[in-house]
Amino acid sequence: MADPKEAIKEKSMNLQKDMLAKQFHDLGKAKELGKKVVYTFVPGNLTELILSFDMLPVYPEINALQSGMRKKSGSYIKDAEKMGYSEDVCTYVKCDIGMMLNGNIGPTGEKLPSPDLLLLSYTGCFTFLKWFENLERLYPGVPVAMLHTPYQEDGKITQDQIDYMVKQLKEDVIPKMEKVSGKKYDQTRLSKMMENSVKAEDLLVKVLESAKNVPSPIDAYFAGVYYIGPIFTAFRGTEAAVEYYTELWNEVQERMRLGLGPVTPEGEIKEQKFRLVVEGPPNWTNFREFWKIFYDMGAVIVASSYTKVGGVYDLGFRHDPKEPLESLSKYCMGVYTNMNLPQRVGLLEKYVKEYKADGFLINSIKSCNSFSAGQLMIMREIEQRTGVPVGFIESDLVDPRYFSYANIKNRLESYFQMLGQRKIILKQEGVLA
Ligand code: SF4
Repeated sequence: MADPKEAIKEKSMNLQKDMLAKQFHDLGKAKELGKKVVYTFVPGNLTELILSFDMLPVYPEINALQSGMRKKSGSYIKDAEKMGYSEDVCTYVKCDIGMMLNGNIGPTGEKLPSPDLLLLSYTGCFTFLKWFENLERLYPGVPVAMLHTPYQEDGKITQDQIDYMVKQLKEDVIPKMEKVSGKKYDQTRLSKMMENSVKAEDLLVKVLESAKNVPSPIDAYFAGVYYIGPIFTAFRGTEAAVEYYTELWNEVQERMRLGLGPVTPEGEIKEQKFRLVVEGPPNWTNFREFWKIFYDMGAVIVASSYTKVGGVYDLGFRHDPKEPLESLSKYCMGVYTNMNLPQRVGLLEKYVKEYKADGFLINSIKSCNSFSAGQLMIMREIEQRTGVPVGFIESDLVDPRYFSYANIKNRLESYFQMLGQRKIILKQEGVLA
């Protein structure tokens, strides 16, 4: 099991910790300060738009994952199940409902304010619809704005789809935001924020692509979930996010210059034996133990799909200050959860090849149909197209009943043994140096 001692942190991690503490503190005082609060989702979020009305966003998935990391999700889920939510319901939903039933206390111990607006900008996952139907019942009278995002069924975003989304923004979402906030829509302000978004997005892509180096200076899954934090949540479009990504990129460049590997909670990985691409979200209830299995075996994740749920920026998308509403629409449609299965396979194949991965691993999440549907097909396709060994483990996001440490460790150890054997054979055949 993981060493309980204090995790080693870089300056950028502390910067992010301060940003989050301020965010939750501001939320704690929102009602007192007369700030309006918008509950919304991470994939395909409209953060700049919310911030341009001086409203504060709350992301229920982030609260759920924080509850998971703080070992509170198990009892929240049980409370939601006692209320009638079945075992099959996404545990993010049950954790969120359970947190509400227990006083809606956020990760810093401060009570989260109730929403003034429920903004359902869902992408790819129909659970989001049901989730907010429940919140609507739990917060009666709170207005709901819904942004329907067309799924990328044919693997492309058409002008008709963009127009459809812009129309919804102009005719439903923005008027509701104006009414709730008491402010007029200010496109100049929104565009200005998007200039900051672009700067942060450019820097995030540089950080993620640094994993193409051998050795990789980052872990693009376990550390990657911290790297995406500010840009996927309340900070995209802010100066604070640009400052965070500038600091992070400086740290990564320094590690590359020194030939150093990723920083784990127990220090730098000395020997990088295996480079992996991972599909699926991580487990949050046992996050450190889970990561430790990998770094103890010298395995570094060089690319992951989970770090694309809030935007596949490495495929070139950037928010566009010149066309803010159009670019928000393209952004919502382009996130990983809204991509069809052939697109996902194509992206993962590209990662395995471009990041010179030794293996491809799926962490199949019991709760999340949006990710888990099609994973066996994805696995088979990646194996055929790239020839790398594929592995499969199962866990859950925030339900501790579905994280079996011994089972996962056994499976991973067998998988790493197989990767090790393959490397020996490839070396003997002269394929590997
Ligand atoms: S099913 Fe997956 S994508 Fe949908 S809300 Fe739950 S965790 Fe999110």
